[in-house]
Amino acid sequence: MKTKIIIILAFIMSVVFYQNFAGDKTIKQDGDGQSNNQSAIFEPDGEDITGETSVENDGAQLLSDIENNKKSYSNFYSKGPGNIKKISLTFDDGPGRSTDFVLKLLKEKNVKATFFLLGTQVEKNPKLAKRILEEGHEIGNHTYSHLNFYSYSESSRAEVIERELMKSGKILSRVLGINPRLVRYPNGYSKPDALEIAERYGYKVINWSFGEDWKRKIKNGQMYSQYLRAVSNGAILLFHDTHKNSKSLSFLPKLIDEIKKRKYEIATVSELLSLDDK
Ligand SMILES: [Zn+2]
Repeated sequence: MKTKIIIILAFIMSVVFYQNFAGDKTIKQDGDGQSNNQSAIFEPDGEDITGETSVENDGAQLLSDIENNKKSYSNFYSKGPGNIKKISLTFDDGPGRSTDFVLKLLKEKNVKATFFLLGTQVEKNPKLAKRILEEGHEIGNHTYSHLNFYSYSESSRAEVIERELMKSGKILSRVLGINPRLVRYPNGYSKPDALEIAERYGYKVINWSFGEDWKRKIKNGQMYSQYLRAVSNGAILLFHDTHKNSKSLSFLPKLIDEIKKRKYEIATVSELLSLDDK
């Protein structure tokens, strides 16, 4: 009898535990079919970029979040105006292993981009972070350590988001002497709690209209044509400058050439969204 009661109690406790701690983890990460719902998903060696994968794996949910948010939040953007032939290139998670490759390429092509930097990476590579700024690119905040906010319970989330945003903001201010006004939350997190926090601190939240460079199963040629297909008025393209091997971005020179050939202006996100005029 005693044993039975213990078994029943253990069962109830495990159910309660599961509901409390596993219930809120809804986002499946990419990474060659692996599912990784842990909060710390950033791999500093750039080999296993989990990246901004929620758009692909939880597309419907995220898109509906975006649609809902659009109605009530004026500080949220995933693309620019549809009536101007202008697009933006954005690079996330750096400064990292392929930042040098990207900077050289952008200089050669005379193009300015927007880099969403992680506080942890700026701490590790302050010189590289300074170089991004010195070479005339725009810098945004990508939070401190790339936590997956989707995996936090609603009650603890706001505090974590605010802390991650502030910590990174302080590092960018200390190392680069700037106070970025753009933030891209990891995994494109754009729920009202994050938008409210961004608004409170004067940030515009920037997502993207297309990105897939972290998907290692997609071949370079295919990647090129899919990015190119996504080039349209107001597009905000997402890449990462943390690839271990810049081969992962070897389609980029050709892509930039073709974008120019099609007479699109490549501008920073602030220029694309005319934020200076607002
Ligand atoms: Zn990221």
